[in-house]
Amino acid sequence: MLLTTDEGHGAVRVNQDGGAASDGGENRGYGVRVVINSIVYGPVPSRRLGRSLGINNIPPKICSYSCVYCQLGSTMNMHVERQTFYHTEEIAQSVKEKVRQVKGKGEPIDFLTFVSDGEPTLDANLGKEIEFVKSLGIKIAVISNGSLIWRDDVRQDLRKADWVSLKVDAVSRQIWRRINRPQKLLNLERIVDGMLKFAQTFDGELTTETMLVRGVNDGTGEIERIAEFLAVLKPAKGYVAIPTRPPAEWVEPAGEGSINAAYQIFTERLPAVEYLIGYEGNAFACTGDVQGDLLSITAVHPMREDAVAEFLKNSRSGWDTIQELINNGSLVELEYQGKKFYMRKLPRRNLVSPQ
Ligand code: SF4
Repeated sequence: MLLTTDEGHGAVRVNQDGGAASDGGENRGYGVRVVINSIVYGPVPSRRLGRSLGINNIPPKICSYSCVYCQLGSTMNMHVERQTFYHTEEIAQSVKEKVRQVKGKGEPIDFLTFVSDGEPTLDANLGKEIEFVKSLGIKIAVISNGSLIWRDDVRQDLRKADWVSLKVDAVSRQIWRRINRPQKLLNLERIVDGMLKFAQTFDGELTTETMLVRGVNDGTGEIERIAEFLAVLKPAKGYVAIPTRPPAEWVEPAGEGSINAAYQIFTERLPAVEYLIGYEGNAFACTGDVQGDLLSITAVHPMREDAVAEFLKNSRSGWDTIQELINNGSLVELEYQGKKFYMRKLPRRNLVSPQ
């Protein structure tokens, strides 16, 4: 079975032994083990979507962006025109068969998720595919970079889903170009406008994902501008992410200080904000294991000093619990606007610098 670290856009599926998997058998030069997998994979555990069966409706790697942090490597095939990659029937039958197999084993599926080796809305048949797989009675999610959402037909297709994630890494043209490296015909103003139009007419759950890259989009100025835009877009939840697997280019994830600042700034304008920083966390964890629960909560969002104190009091624990987590490198203490916050220390990554 294949697993994902997270169903983020361009997420690399990994085998249970930790090697990366990719369609098409291309070796991305990270020294990873490559296997061929099919259009449908999983179900994989996803913090956002529960048990999610992935639908990879785009051959690797066809995208409208070539994000500096993309885990799938650089985009060799940049496209902005929608086209047919697979027959709708082929996708529909693959999904149907896989659902039958999984359910046959008694395993639940919470979402059927279009998460591709590229941008799923480039698929001209996306709407038809969603319609078909919806008939299986499982909720549908689409993880999109949002670059084609200025098109009426793309918005129409996405409206058929129950849950949509849009990528919002930057709202300033220069930073957008640096981080997402869009196909040259794309226009940021049209994309932003398309996202707003979509948000106004979408009945499902809209979420956003903002990947923070050190020195590119993690400055307070751009984070504030993104937050202003999100305040108008009104997603149900805004996710703050960092690259946690080897990316296309030599990029560094934003540090804990920037991630905490982004969390605080987004929280002032959005009803819900969470981290996606490479840990599975459960903000409502209460297992009785005080340290484990604290790490679970702070993997999802930072805790203010007073909230930690309250938590410790309720768990009949002392501050030495926190000190121990800081000393062993699991937790980090941060300051933002004169207040102390505690956050799960970012995972160590084994990045490989390109030659
Ligand atoms: S949008 Fe960016 S992260 Fe997603 S597949 Fe395309 S290049 Fe990779």
